[in-house]
Order: sequence, then C-alpha cells, then structure tokens
Amino acid sequence: MVSAILTYHSLDPSGSVISIAPGTFRGHMEALKEAGIPVVALSKIQQTPGGVAITFDDGFRNFLDHGAGVLEEFRYPATVFVVSGYCGRKNEWPSQPAGPIPRLELMDWDELRQISGAGIELGAHSVTHPFLSALPEATAEREMRDCRAEMEERIGRPVEAFAYPYGKSSPAVRRLAGDIFRQACGTQLRFVTGQSLSSDLPRLDAYYLGSSRVLAHLRSLPVRSYLSFRRLLRGLREVLSQSA
Ligand SMILES: [Zn+2]
Repeated sequence: MVSAILTYHSLDPSGSVISIAPGTFRGHMEALKEAGIPVVALSKIQQTPGGVAITFDDGFRNFLDHGAGVLEEFRYPATVFVVSGYCGRKNEWPSQPAGPIPRLELMDWDELRQISGAGIELGAHSVTHPFLSALPEATAEREMRDCRAEMEERIGRPVEAFAYPYGKSSPAVRRLAGDIFRQACGTQLRFVTGQSLSSDLPRLDAYYLGSSRVLAHLRSLPVRSYLSFRRLLRGLREVLSQSA
C-alpha cells in the first residue's frame, strides 16, 4: 500500500523555501484531478492506496485567500497544523532561524473557527514551534498537550493529528505523540506505505516535489501505484516548471 501526504506552508509568490505561488498551488490541484488521484482526509490516508492527503503547516493567513477557496472548488479535504501560542501573530517563534524565511501573518482563532466550520481539519503543531527533541520530555509533552487542549477549547472540535515542528522528532517524542494523537507527521521525503507508523508519517514537501530523491523513491514502488504517482509527479513538475 502506497500513498502520499503533501505538505504546504505559505501560499505566496515570494519563492522562499516555505512558499508556493498561488497559481502553482491551483496547478497542483488540477494535476491531482487530471491524474485521477483520490484526495482524501489525512485520517484516511493509511487506508487509501494510491491516494493523496493535503496538509498545511503553521496556519498562514494567506491560506484564506489562496487555499480554502481552491480546495472548496475541487472538493478536496485538507488539514491545517496550528501553532496555538502564535495564532493571530507572525511566525516569529524563538527557534525560527534568522535569514531567508519570510515573517508572515498567521490566522487568528476566529479565522481558524471559520475554516474549521467550512470543513478544513485542524491539527496541532505545538504551542511555540520548538525543536521538540531538544527539550526535556516533560516540556515536549506540555507543548503537545497544551496545544491540543487550547485548540479543542477554542474551536470546539477534537484535535487528533499532530505535525512535528521542523519535522524533527526522537523516539521519546514519537512515543509521546503516539499517546496524545491518533496521527503524527514528520517531513521525511517519502511515501506512506504499509510499514509507516501512524506516529511517524512521512510527507512530501511541495517545494521538493520535482526533486530526484522523490523520483528515485518512486522506482521502488509496486507497479500500479508507481504508474499513478509517476503521472501525478509529471503533472506537478510541469506546473512547477511553468511557474518558475
Ligand atoms: Zn512549522
């Protein structure tokens, strides 16, 4: 069984490593449709061979302008991972490296309630976006539990999925996440297979979809999935190269 989880961050035209241009994002959704790939909720991805789930990290406000409407148009489910201590602020958490990552606005609680009401799943992404594996275990646990608790209180829906900040975890952090959440995602550039653990789901960052590492991995897939994913990636790469 092979399927894939796509990761997006910001939908903006800056070309930064966390940015996908709005037109490129729409092109990806069209490519998925043209390839006949079923787009399913993250909670269903391990039971959907050949399927794709769509996720957004950090909860950037530009999701409202360039993400939500397109997803609704295609009727594609998606999950947005929220940093509970930074809602309505910018991605200026203490661990954010100085340098080329743009500082952008994040959705506030009203906006998150609004997209949740429109059917977007909200997942937890910690309180302050730290490197969890560098923290004492009790602190890492609070980052996960407090994020979940505040989100559930403010949104009024269960929060069952988690994304490790920076995709970084450790065996201890994954054990904690496995206790607290039904699913937890990293950022390894791999496909979801029958061997994937629900506390350590790999994701394909949209920024790297055209990379040779993804293509090399594709060659090891069972034939039917290989063909459908090859078609998908070809479509996605075309969109990327047109927009470059
Ligand atoms: Zn993040």
